[in-house]
Amino acid sequence: MGRLAVILFGPPAAGKGTQARMVGAEMKFPVISTGDILREAVRDQTKLGTQAKGYMESGALVPDELVDAIVKERLQRKDCAEGFVLDGYPRTIRQAEFLEGAFREEGVETLVIGITVDDRVLVSRIAGRRSCPNCGKVFSAASLPSDRDGLKCDECGTALVQRKDDTAEVMEERLRVYHRQTQPLIDHYKSRGSYVEVDGDSRVEDVFGSILGIVRKQRKAASVL
Ligand code: AMP
Repeated sequence: MGRLAVILFGPPAAGKGTQARMVGAEMKFPVISTGDILREAVRDQTKLGTQAKGYMESGALVPDELVDAIVKERLQRKDCAEGFVLDGYPRTIRQAEFLEGAFREEGVETLVIGITVDDRVLVSRIAGRRSCPNCGKVFSAASLPSDRDGLKCDECGTALVQRKDDTAEVMEERLRVYHRQTQPLIDHYKSRGSYVEVDGDSRVEDVFGSILGIVRKQRKAASVL
């Protein structure tokens, strides 16, 4: 069976990160989250982190060259041999073209799953959102663990934080950037016949069920070809 790229696509706070982890665990695929990789670089004050910090804090996109290089390097690792999940990449037409170039050399089957959620719902989600600065797991207001010792990640035990860009003001800019720079990718992928949409405004498990159904159908179709 060929190598499968599952691209989870959608606006900020649509649930890409949460669903990416669930799909990755189920399919035994690694999850490549450019946002998580960049946040780690900022935290560790690497050269990449220093270059990316200002863009991220203002809600802008980090330049294509920087994220393209991250993804290219990551895709070369052994754990991506069967398939992988991309969370938050590509976000511009240029990034999509870069990825297509990389895939063309290696023959990768691409499935783009768009998670749709109304802007007003996204804005209301952001206020209650907390994230694990260590493993990147995201908690919604409703999914926050109730822990006497403060809010800790239920996976790695690290104290949860509110992301610097999860404020109402920066969220507004992130949504603007999404509509202007990222949303045009939907038509790009539709014209290639690799785009499927799911309603992201329902229970996490239900969204996951829809996504898994799409991934399995694609896998099955590919295996009979
Ligand atoms: P995320 O965690 O996916 O919401 O990403 C957080 C921030 O990281 C974004 O607002 C951007 O500043 C930056 N970022 C993540 N992925 C990309 C990407 N593919 N292209 C450009 N910037 C990105």
